[in-house]
Amino acid sequence: MKMKQETNADSENELIEKIYEQRVIGNRDEKNAALSASLFVNECPKKGRYVEAKDNIKAGEVLLQETPFAAWIKPSLIKTYCNHCFKRLKTCDIYCARCENIFYCSLKCHDESSFQYHQTECNFLSLFRLLSKGQLALRVVFKANIEQLFSENEMKIESKSSEDVGEYEKIFDLVDHLRECTYTNLMFDVFGAIFLSLLLKKLSLIDDKSVLIVGKVLLKHLLQINMNGIQIMEQRIADVQQLPSGEIIYKIESLEDSKGLGLYTNISLVNHSCYNVTKSLFNGNQLSLVAIADLGKGDEITYNYGPHYKFMPKSERQTFLRDFYYFDCECKACIEDWF
Ligand SMILES: [Zn+2]
Ligand SMILES: [Zn+2]
Ligand SMILES: [Zn+2]
Repeated sequence: MKMKQETNADSENELIEKIYEQRVIGNRDEKNAALSASLFVNECPKKGRYVEAKDNIKAGEVLLQETPFAAWIKPSLIKTYCNHCFKRLKTCDIYCARCENIFYCSLKCHDESSFQYHQTECNFLSLFRLLSKGQLALRVVFKANIEQLFSENEMKIESKSSEDVGEYEKIFDLVDHLRECTYTNLMFDVFGAIFLSLLLKKLSLIDDKSVLIVGKVLLKHLLQINMNGIQIMEQRIADVQQLPSGEIIYKIESLEDSKGLGLYTNISLVNHSCYNVTKSLFNGNQLSLVAIADLGKGDEITYNYGPHYKFMPKSERQTFLRDFYYFDCECKACIEDWF
């Protein structure tokens, strides 16, 4: 691999870095550092787990911050963004020396990617990256370490522990809605999982006796990606100015297209509402959930999955959420018929 000489960032880039440095959680939860200490993960039979405010929250506070367990970048963007952290590349000088087909912003990203998933996919990357969410599901099992995961009996995969769960166990715990899936949706992913597990066998990445269990796990991850996958958006910080007081003001511009897809562990705890009390912001593929309204103690923290009351009538929102996420939305906008 080759390294590029570091160049000095110009003053605007330094201000932008400062903005990202300041966009952090004030006080982190003691057990889960991805969450603000102002949040509480509650549970009830009707909603399952959900997140509420433990204290009063001011607009602008960062409530949740995490990087994806695994992510997939669009093949057309591999020379535009770091293939691991999704930050914009200044050059394509750092890459995998074996396949010369994956590019990074830094040696740190190169090494992390190689250790977590790329050393397994390296020889077959040009094929895998065309599989979109299939590649994401594969990266989840590569990172979880196939051999370690499947050297024990099948029940290891089915088991769940509530305390001190590892990152993969948290992914394994995400909802998949297997039972609610329509026949057509399920068949598409079943064929995908069969194809992927036979492909892994053909490429000698797994052995005969692992095909069935790897197929089952891949099906679970494909269904989880449908429910929990997050589109990683291209966002730019624009019109940055530093006021004489030292305060930095800026605009965040969201571009229409996504860079790819990520599977995160914590954002999935946050339920949908058809109006925004939070906004997701990206620094590469690091996701921050920021409050955009003042919230009171006990208020539920919600996140808009796509259908917003300003842009979609209630009946269409409800149909969309039932068809794709398998729930009847009971947010304030739906109950009070805002549209
Ligand atoms: Zn990077
Ligand atoms: Zn490679
Ligand atoms: Zn709603």
